[in-house]
Amino acid sequence: MSQRPLVLALDVGGTKLAAGVVAPDGRILATGMVPAGPADGPDRMIERHLALARRLVIEAAVEWSAVELVGIGCGGPLDRVTGTVHEPVNLPGWIDYPIVRRVEDALGRPAVLENDATAALLGELWFGAARGRRDVAYFTISTGIGGGIALDGEVRRGAAGNAGEFGHQSVAWDGWPCACGRRGCVEAFASGTNIARRAREAVARKPGARLIELAGSADAITAAHVVAAVREGDPLAREVWDATTAVLGAGVANVVNLFNPELVVLGGGVTAAGNLLLEPVARSARTALPPAANAVEIVLAALGSNVGIVGAAAVALEAAGHRPPADLELATR
Ligand SMILES: [Zn+2]
Repeated sequence: MSQRPLVLALDVGGTKLAAGVVAPDGRILATGMVPAGPADGPDRMIERHLALARRLVIEAAVEWSAVELVGIGCGGPLDRVTGTVHEPVNLPGWIDYPIVRRVEDALGRPAVLENDATAALLGELWFGAARGRRDVAYFTISTGIGGGIALDGEVRRGAAGNAGEFGHQSVAWDGWPCACGRRGCVEAFASGTNIARRAREAVARKPGARLIELAGSADAITAAHVVAAVREGDPLAREVWDATTAVLGAGVANVVNLFNPELVVLGGGVTAAGNLLLEPVARSARTALPPAANAVEIVLAALGSNVGIVGAAAVALEAAGHRPPADLELATR
């Protein structure tokens, strides 16, 4: 019944391990997740992840033999060529961890590793908001901020496979400190974590703020509370949010100037804010130089919470020499 090859997609995070069985047209046949439990270390985590994957193949009611490829998305730093993960901040103990070899040994199938932001870009290019587009920048605005870039129809990974770190572009050279050691990075101001931190700092100066009522306490404030308070018209939350979208917009405008994309896709948890995020960021992006600014469209991602799974599947399909469905449609027209 199913097309081949089916892909087993693994999305490795510090909070959860997600997996899915994905058809070559991007359809998810089964998906699920288990808590990551990073304190257990990489071997035990991978065991749990693979147990989940095996259950999902049974749940999808497909033959094991049809599951020919494995795609793995993970936060960087990592080396996709050697298939090793180099201790991302949310995965302590994953020191030069050979995830690809572990997974291949366990499953007896070729596996491919990719940075999760690049995987998300590929997912949107093949199956989401960027289908059929050639010059695309993808921003993921979540716990952290990452990204990826495709030019002339190809994902660009750079000399060390690290292209597209849009969160660590400085928009204020002597500005706020970032964990990376530089100052004024977009991530250190506008990631979900940092929106929440700035909101907590703002309410500390203003007791009785609406944000504290919504969250229960100042310590419990998240980016989602800020968005909810903005929707209610709360001026303090509005201040925090306007500064957030201004910094994000400056980052997007930089990327428009640098790469002249036809499309910028905004994904990640913070984009649940919808038009509250999209409209001001798109307005800022139009402050890029006119030829590039006039050519660019800014949209929200289409794959939502499935992006990790669908992206990891696209990584495996691309590595195995498959073409995006949109390309195939164009070729047969
Ligand atoms: Zn930084």
